[in-house]
Amino acid sequence: MKDISNKIKEIAKKLLENGQVDIFMAWEKGEYPFQTKPFFARNTEEADKIIFDEYSIHNLSNSLLKFRDRPEKIGIVVKGCDSRGIVRLLEDNQFQRERLYIVGVNCPGMKDPLKAMKNNSGFGKKTEEEDLADKCRNCMQPNPVIYDEILGDIQEAHLEGDRFARVKEIENMSPDERYSFFEESLSKCIRCYACRQVCVACNCRTCIFDETKPQWVGRESSSSDNMMYHLVRASHMAGRCVECGECERVCPVNIPLMLINRKLIKDVDQFFGPYEAGMEYIEGAIPPLSVYRENDPDDFI
Ligand code: SF4
Ligand code: SF4
Ligand code: SF4
Repeated sequence: MKDISNKIKEIAKKLLENGQVDIFMAWEKGEYPFQTKPFFARNTEEADKIIFDEYSIHNLSNSLLKFRDRPEKIGIVVKGCDSRGIVRLLEDNQFQRERLYIVGVNCPGMKDPLKAMKNNSGFGKKTEEEDLADKCRNCMQPNPVIYDEILGDIQEAHLEGDRFARVKEIENMSPDERYSFFEESLSKCIRCYACRQVCVACNCRTCIFDETKPQWVGRESSSSDNMMYHLVRASHMAGRCVECGECERVCPVNIPLMLINRKLIKDVDQFFGPYEAGMEYIEGAIPPLSVYRENDPDDFI
């Protein structure tokens, strides 16, 4: 990965030097070997800090939202999942393609910095090599789907079996079992909203969960308010989630959010597809559930 790191640095310097971009988004090394952080370089000196390693796990596409109303041109490094996030932003009209210079990296899979931190601290210090992060073990698209230039060797999908296997298990439960499962899982939610903040598809300027007049969704971390939060967020993600796994990765209480996301991905593909969100950018294309027609079937209402 050192090679890729150096190439990214070179590209960033060239783009910043000739004014093709004002900011270059990548990663820099943190305090510990397993800490790699998103980093925005604004000049060639800062570009020297850029790194790409096995902990460059954060989906940078979400950071573009900070610049959506600003004039800067932005260079950005994307792995497969990040690139699908870019497609999400372009389709949602949150960013313009001409403001971006996209450097794609065919992704060999990342390690989880949080797991590494746990493994490296306390008396239970582990020495064995860490596995791929959970989100990378079910990755069907490690190669960027949109880019201006691309680095690294093409990768096979990192799939360990059927990525919908757990969803199917839940589908086979009785309604009561399913309810208990989700009630129990979601009761742990502390409503920190990290899953929303990190999500590239959660890009509304005014979020329903922040509204107070009226307050659409209760804010207690009680079972019913938590369930409502997750139901509403899930319905907003239907047909839009790009399966980057960031929401589940950042959840401090390990709620299996990808189960909900994958159920929706599976159903949207089955009922409105074939469709996988963010796999290609076609100007003017609209995701299946983001379009309304007067003759849409409505028998279920
Ligand atoms: S989800 Fe896929 S593209 Fe994203 S970091 Fe993991 S392996 Fe790479
Ligand atoms: S819902 Fe989760 S997996 Fe889907 S796009 Fe948002 S952060 Fe990524
Ligand atoms: S990140 Fe986890 S705890 Fe925080 S709001 Fe989301 S599901 Fe709840």
